Amino acid sequence: MLSCKQVADRASALIDGELSAWELIQIRLHLAMCKGCSSFIDQLRKTDHLTAVAAEIDEPLQHGAEDGRYTEILSMLRKEQPRG
Ligand SMILES: [Zn+2]
Repeated sequence: MLSCKQVADRASALIDGELSAWELIQIRLHLAMCKGCSSFIDQLRKTDHLTAVAAEIDEPLQHGAEDGRYTEILSMLRKEQPRG
């Protein structure tokens, strides 16, 4: 089984969908048994997704569109990245 460090090393590749099927299976197996890594990956996924959403809605904002989602997502981003 993979160690927690090996899972962490592959985390960004996992989220980018760059892992082989075998690596995916190994990581899924580890995540099923390791709560620490499971929530770590969860957190990474959320952050990654929010960053993508924030980038998407950047353009309409520049055109002056009122969009409550922006404030909402910004506050979510701050919550997700306490160190940033
Ligand atoms: Zn682990």
